[in-house]
Amino acid sequence: MNALAATSRNFRNAARILGLDAKIEKSLLIPFREIKVECTIPKDDGSLVSYVGFRVQHDNARGPMKGGIRYHPEVDPDEVNALAQLMTWKTAVADIPYGGAKGGIGCTPRDLSKSELERLTRVFTQKIHDLIGTHTDVPAPDMGTNAQTMAWILDEYSKFHGHSPAVVTGKPIDLGGSLGREAATGRGVVFGTEALLAEYGKSVKDLTFVIQGFGNVGSWAARLIHERGGKVIAVSDITGAIKNPNGIDITELIKHKESTGSLLNFGGGDNMDPNEVLAKFIVEAANHPTDPEADEILSKKGVIILPDIYANAGGVTVSYFEWVQNIQGFMWDEEKVNNELQRYMTRAFHNIKNMCKTHECNLRMGAFTLGVNRVARATVLRGWEA
Ligand code: GLU
Repeated sequence: MNALAATSRNFRNAARILGLDAKIEKSLLIPFREIKVECTIPKDDGSLVSYVGFRVQHDNARGPMKGGIRYHPEVDPDEVNALAQLMTWKTAVADIPYGGAKGGIGCTPRDLSKSELERLTRVFTQKIHDLIGTHTDVPAPDMGTNAQTMAWILDEYSKFHGHSPAVVTGKPIDLGGSLGREAATGRGVVFGTEALLAEYGKSVKDLTFVIQGFGNVGSWAARLIHERGGKVIAVSDITGAIKNPNGIDITELIKHKESTGSLLNFGGGDNMDPNEVLAKFIVEAANHPTDPEADEILSKKGVIILPDIYANAGGVTVSYFEWVQNIQGFMWDEEKVNNELQRYMTRAFHNIKNMCKTHECNLRMGAFTLGVNRVARATVLRGWEA
């Protein structure tokens, strides 16, 4: 099932559980606006190459639309649509005053030089600058993009609209980025995991962890688990998988991956089959990592899944703190950022648990009903009179 069908199915289930009016259900499902632009750039060798860029703005009932921009070969309209919709529910679950959006360019960033990436980012920004803004739609990093990408968007946008630091989040600290934003998604994953484990009388230090994915989110989550005394016994990514039943030294593994580009052949562990990586609790640090079919099978096996729209909400939550700091013109210290992040993640977990109790549903539906209900309430309050 493709990402859009799966996300819409979860949304419809939540709408049914909530007894949502059919007209509101329909209006929440259809995106507010879908943008598709052609981006042609000269390559370093002088030849021209064209890419297709997307920005889907899903909903703005609760505030400016918010979400990352990804550079990935598999970016397509359906996927961006699904991810934009997930952002609407995610910002509502986190209870930050935003709607949802997502963007992307179908490209393979590691095949482009830095100056080609810069040109591509600037052309994309030229094509969408009129449709984004501090109070309309605020992009951020996602797969294949980073703080440098945000710096180029900010610079290009500012040529048209004047200096506007709050038009993007996940910026470099020197351009108004927030302390703690780089680690925020991984840190939020750990705070969410701690809130979940507390329900079972467990803590990170009592348990073993396996981590699928070792980019920004996975490596930060691993580092923070390690710091708390949790044992990371296996790590996998596209390059392969490694295991060490006595616990992997994460700092050394990060160094190994940086120097070799791969997890494999790490001195402090053994290579393993990535398909063997499975656990009792699954924490979805990525967006839409579990197919609905797999979701059902895992649920039947009694696996507890902490869903993406909650588990990885730490990134967009600290994006919100960054935006607030930019608007206030005041910088928070990192301790304040991390403490506030923990408060937001813990509060959202308890809000989800309440929905699970009220509607007798699992954590995914608890999160969906929480998010969808908040957006539906805001939509009804705004009304429809033209
Ligand atoms: N790309 C991240 C996400 O999927 C962060 C979005 C943001 O900070 O706006 O949640």
